[in-house]
This record gives sequence, C-alpha cells and structure tokens, in this order.
Amino acid sequence: MITRDDIISWLQCYREVVGEHKDYLTQLDAAIGDADHGANMDRGFAAVLAKMPTVAEKDIGAILKMTGMTLVATVGGAGGPLYGTFFMRAGATADGKMELSPLEFLAALEAGLAGVQQRGKATTGEKTMVDALTPACQALRRALEEGQPLAVALQQAAQAAEEGMKATIPMLATKGRASYLGERSIGHQDPGATSSYLLFRCAADCFANKNKA
Ligand code: ADP
Ligand code: MG
Repeated sequence: MITRDDIISWLQCYREVVGEHKDYLTQLDAAIGDADHGANMDRGFAAVLAKMPTVAEKDIGAILKMTGMTLVATVGGAGGPLYGTFFMRAGATADGKMELSPLEFLAALEAGLAGVQQRGKATTGEKTMVDALTPACQALRRALEEGQPLAVALQQAAQAAEEGMKATIPMLATKGRASYLGERSIGHQDPGATSSYLLFRCAADCFANKNKA
C-alpha cells in the first residue's frame, strides 16, 4: 500500500527534482514557449512544500487537493492550472484515504490525466504533457494488471513517460504557446512533457523499495 507519508515523500522528491531541473525546463520552454516553465514549476512546488505542514496529518485526498489548489493559486499561464487540475482531480479520487493500493494510485493518476485532457482540450500527438502522462498511465495499468509489483510497474511507467517525452521532439505543436510557432515547433522537446516525465521518475524512485502489490 502507498501511505500518506509516501505521497508526501513523492511530492518532496518532485520539488527537489524540479529545483534541480529548473534551468533545463526553462531552456526547453525558451525554444518553443516563453521561458518560464522551470520558474513556474519551481515556484509552484516550493509553495506546495511550504504548505505541507497544514495537511501533514490529513488524508491523501486532502494532500493532493492542497497541491492542486496551491499550483493554481501560485502559477499563472497554462502549465500551473493544468498541473493544478491534475492534482485536484487525482485528490478527488482519494478523499478520506490514508493509504492507496497500487490500483487506487493508478486511478488517481488516470483521473488527473483525464482532467488535464479536458481542461487543456488536448489529446496525444499535440506535443504537450499529455504525451508523457498518457503512455505512463497506460504502462502502469498494463504492468499492474499483469501482476507486476508496484516498484517494477512504476519503473515501466517512468520509462514509458520518458519515451513519450522524447516522442514530442518531432511533433508539431497544436496546443498552448508552442502552437503559435507552427512548423518551427518541430525538433524541440516539450517542456511540460519533460516535467511530467520527472513526476513519474520521482514516483518510481520514491516507491522503489515498496514491492508488495
Ligand atoms: P505557459 O505555456 O503558459 O507559459 P508553462 O510554460 O508553465 O505555461 O507550461 C507549458 C506546458 O504546458 C507545455 O509545454 C505543454 O506541455 C503544456 N500545455 C500547454 N497548453 C496545453 C494544453 N492545452 N493541454 C495540455 N498541455 C498544455
Ligand atoms: Mg511557458
């Protein structure tokens, strides 16, 4: 089972990784956007971690919803509200729960992805975070249904997210700021797909020693 403390560790890990990759994410966004994705994610997750003490005793739903609401409140543009939606929708599936089974964790991630797709009106192949989140959720579902332990399943999900992230390079952007570039968006990796890959990478690293399904 994934505990409330595991979820907090995952968010802490992500906050650190986003901090370490801030310049990289900004550089990617400089090529096809407005060079703020690193700063946006860094500011948003710093605020999330600052608020963590207020929900540390609460259930997973409350922690994820606080994460989403804080991102919406502190990050402007497209990325913040989209990640905000991701975490608020994920949290809505975990109301009152102090722990999640691997399949419940998957259901939370899938609800988050559905929220991003709905809010962003985006589907796969449009060079957005959806292109990393979708294969990651699919790989996680496949692995868990095959009976793989959570740690293995999350490694496969992170790998699928990485492949999805890299697959955005040759894509033509049709959503968000990058779409303003038209053909010139081709040949660049999407910043949001990159931060989404890092989110799954953190889950895989963070839950690596949880091998009981
Ligand atoms: P902004 O584009 O407002 O500057 P960010 O730079 O923080 O916001 O985030 C940009 C990322 O948001 C993109 O790389 C892309 O992955 C994602 N994104 C933008 N628009 C959409 C959308 N309509 N649907 C899904 N994801 C989107
Ligand atoms: Mg930007």
